[in-house]
Amino acid sequence: MLPSELLESMHGVVGYDEKAFIAAHDGVVPHTSIRLNQVKIAQYQIPSTNQSEDKNDRVGTAAFVQTHPALAEHKPVPWCPLGYYLHQRPSFTHDPLFHAGAYYVQEASSMFLWSALAQCITTTVDGLIVLDLCAAPGGKTTLLSSFFQKSLLVSNEVIKSRASILVENTIKWGSGHLVVTNNDPSHFAALTGFFDVIIIDAPCSGSGLFRKDANAVQEWSVEQVALCSKRQIRIVTDVWPALKEGGLLIYSTCSFSPVENEAVVDTILEALPSTTIQLNAQSGIVETLSPQLGGYGYRFYPHLVDGEGFYMAAVRKANSNQPTVMGGNKFMAIPSKQEAAICNAFIPMPADYFMFKQGQEINWFPLQWKEALETLVQHLYIKNAGITLGEVKGKDCIPHHQVAMYQGLDKSSIVCTHFSKDQALLYLKRQEMQVEGAHGWNLACYQGLALGWLKILPNRINNYYPTSWRILKD
Ligand code: SAM
Repeated sequence: MLPSELLESMHGVVGYDEKAFIAAHDGVVPHTSIRLNQVKIAQYQIPSTNQSEDKNDRVGTAAFVQTHPALAEHKPVPWCPLGYYLHQRPSFTHDPLFHAGAYYVQEASSMFLWSALAQCITTTVDGLIVLDLCAAPGGKTTLLSSFFQKSLLVSNEVIKSRASILVENTIKWGSGHLVVTNNDPSHFAALTGFFDVIIIDAPCSGSGLFRKDANAVQEWSVEQVALCSKRQIRIVTDVWPALKEGGLLIYSTCSFSPVENEAVVDTILEALPSTTIQLNAQSGIVETLSPQLGGYGYRFYPHLVDGEGFYMAAVRKANSNQPTVMGGNKFMAIPSKQEAAICNAFIPMPADYFMFKQGQEINWFPLQWKEALETLVQHLYIKNAGITLGEVKGKDCIPHHQVAMYQGLDKSSIVCTHFSKDQALLYLKRQEMQVEGAHGWNLACYQGLALGWLKILPNRINNYYPTSWRILKD
């Protein structure tokens, strides 16, 4: 049963049709959709079954889309070029490519972020600094890292346990230009004018996901909606100084309640110097105007689109001669020449990166963003920055799982062991297995994509897949 107060609150909102809305919630199974990781999918390979087969048909995105069982009908998501609806929900846990970061399971409506960014950022998408403020578990962050391939992405989550899930998902995705932080939105205020783009996918009452989560209906209340609205306004206000003049703020929720959506936009327009941006709302997406100040917003209703409930508004910050913060102390410990040589002999550092040390761990980070990282370190709690390569022990480099998952990993100096699906699942479960291969460090791969490390010794195999990530289900 949908809460009557929710239905009442939507009377008069553009696009709302009570009968159709209720019917769309009545036992309708929501769509399952995935978004591809275009860099990893480009490395995808299927083993040849036929000598005369053209190799080009067996590698890359087209091969993945043609051959992955879940994509048999591969209907694209209209507002995101990397998004696909699946004809049924497969067991993602038992698909090694899911663990390899080949795709992310994401609700289709929220992929509209891609279209909004493409419409709002008409100059370059490179060389920007982007903040995803409410980021766990990482759906928007992984989309952003695909969209902004040559920009710096800061992905923040305030709740500690959820920040760890965010780190896990971003490691699987494998981008090198990402910093994960664990801070309250108010901590960003000191970074005046630092970010070109800020995404606030705000915590909300969750009515947009009622079809996916039956518990959400029980937990919904008018009081909770009011509380969420206050918190949403506080989050936007707290982070606002960190947005550059002329910068873009994208605000979104998965709630249908006007007080969490259009009313928040009214408060932004009233209190903060800004304007909203009108977007092209295709394929059943409904454009709304905030009641007081006419700010543009975009609603996704399940009776009008193939997706769940969602709201998004794009806000441009006005110019007001605010100063910007940049520069910081040189904080980073640099590995010794010997350590760097040991690391580079094992896996050469990518061009345009530099090495720094955090405790015993050696990391790679894009040189272009060194100063920005120094600034971030001064103000925020950094959970992960760039790619953790590993530790030097004696004359050896002990590789970290993150470098195995890095999208840009140069595999030419690494021994790769190619697994069948059954072997890949044994590896991901950390179960006993027989592997033929060269002694020493091996990169476990499945259909061209890395799963993690294993070390083959004369009398045993050591599985380095992170214990806490292993598959527990049979
Ligand atoms: N953007 C995420 C994604 O696409 O996967 C989903 C974000 S979820 C809608 C909202 C997030 O905000 C949650 O991870 C939640 O822990 C976090 N959050 C909760 N309270 C918050 C607060 N006061 N300030 C900032 N974030 C908060």
